[in-house]
Amino acid sequence: MTARTDQPRTNRRSYPLELLDLDATLAEEERQIRDVVRQLVDTRVRPHVAGWYEAGEAPVRELAVEFGRLGLLGMHLTGYGCAGASALAYGLACLELEAGDSGVRSLASVQGSLAMYAIWRYGSEEQKRRWLPPMAAGETIGCFGLTEPDHGSDPASMATRARRDGTDWVLTGGKMWITNAPVADVAVIWARTDDGVRGFVVPMSTPGVAAREIRRKMSLRASSTGEIVLDEVRLPADARLPEAVGLKAPLNCLTQARYGIVWGALGAARDCLHTALDYATTREQFGRPIAGFQLTQAKLADMAVELQKGYLLALHLGRLADVGTLRPEQVSVGKLNNVREALAIARQCRTILGANGVSGEYPVLRHANNLESVLTYEGTSEIHQLVIGARLTGLSAFA
Ligand SMILES: Cc1cc2nc3c(=O)[nH]c(=O)nc-3n(C[C@H](O)[C@H](O)[C@H](O)COP(=O)(O)OP(=O)(O)OC[C@H]3O[C@@H](n4cnc5c(N)ncnc54)[C@H](O)[C@@H]3O)c2cc1C
Repeated sequence: MTARTDQPRTNRRSYPLELLDLDATLAEEERQIRDVVRQLVDTRVRPHVAGWYEAGEAPVRELAVEFGRLGLLGMHLTGYGCAGASALAYGLACLELEAGDSGVRSLASVQGSLAMYAIWRYGSEEQKRRWLPPMAAGETIGCFGLTEPDHGSDPASMATRARRDGTDWVLTGGKMWITNAPVADVAVIWARTDDGVRGFVVPMSTPGVAAREIRRKMSLRASSTGEIVLDEVRLPADARLPEAVGLKAPLNCLTQARYGIVWGALGAARDCLHTALDYATTREQFGRPIAGFQLTQAKLADMAVELQKGYLLALHLGRLADVGTLRPEQVSVGKLNNVREALAIARQCRTILGANGVSGEYPVLRHANNLESVLTYEGTSEIHQLVIGARLTGLSAFA
């Protein structure tokens, strides 16, 4: 094999994901979807997101409608107004959204992979017809309530209860750290019943439901996160998701959302690396661009290698998902690796920008701060290590 020699040894720059020509492995339709989402992010998110982040609020409803118009909500689901795209295309969309901001990607993930997926997979035909089309259009916003103040990594011990009263269900308890809760029209709530964990579709306007924004977040500030209080919330019998039996139902929903995170985290990392590359080639110290220093190049090279390894992993998982063989522990491999590496890349890029790295004028510390949440939600790194460990050893460390 001979290396190409038709390019000068200097002045030829390549962006990290171009190094291995991985674009060539995508189908034309996948590239088109990716480009449309990238353009949406460039026009609708990038110019504003630093301000949203600083203010601690994003125009969630407007964004949802725009995402809905492009078919990004419940994009990988079929029927009921959903786009029916491939898992790979959905992953690419998550990557582009998170290159804008993890909070913006979270909006699409929670809507599509958690709230809509729960109804699509476990709901009755009537529930699907009622909720999915307006959710796919972004006119109705959903959230997914599993975590509680005292029960995070261990949802099996949840305290929220649903008891029967005649044919009705009555829900009591509380959910914490719920993305979109303060702006949501509907929540999928998981509660303990006499027959184990069950899921309920709860309109947020139901008497006894209250949502409160969680303030002073230092991460995912361009995303709405809230607490949900359920005080003797009376629901008709048909509010229960009939096909959701036991904790495996919400855990299966989480696997869907984690798959999107495998891709999304790479978007945040890519944006950091592009920013650091641009900065390093123009910022001069000691009379030359800092990109010319070997220590800087070592950082850039290592980050580019990790980014591409993560991308290859995401491509592989995407292809497994599209043939229907993706297993939860494989998603754990992707979530653990890609979020951990994305966070390391974001922090390393921060060093390349020096003092400017801590400024909101650049996206790098915003991405790093966001990735702290991404590392924790949808299963912490430790929980994914334990999932992989259980698969390797046959011994569960936490069940
Ligand atoms: C911004 C944001 C948005 C979120 N959105 C949602 C949402 O929409 N819906 C929802 O239901 N939840 C949501 N969450 C909650 C999230 O899923 C939980 O925070 C997460 O599951 C961890 O739970 P916890 O915070 O209670 O931490 P804990 O479970 O208390 O864990 C604390 C630490 O202990 C470790 N730990 C726990 N158990 C073990 C063990 N067995 N072995 C080793 N280490 C262990 C953890 O890994 C972690 O490091 C969100 C969180 C954030 C930050």
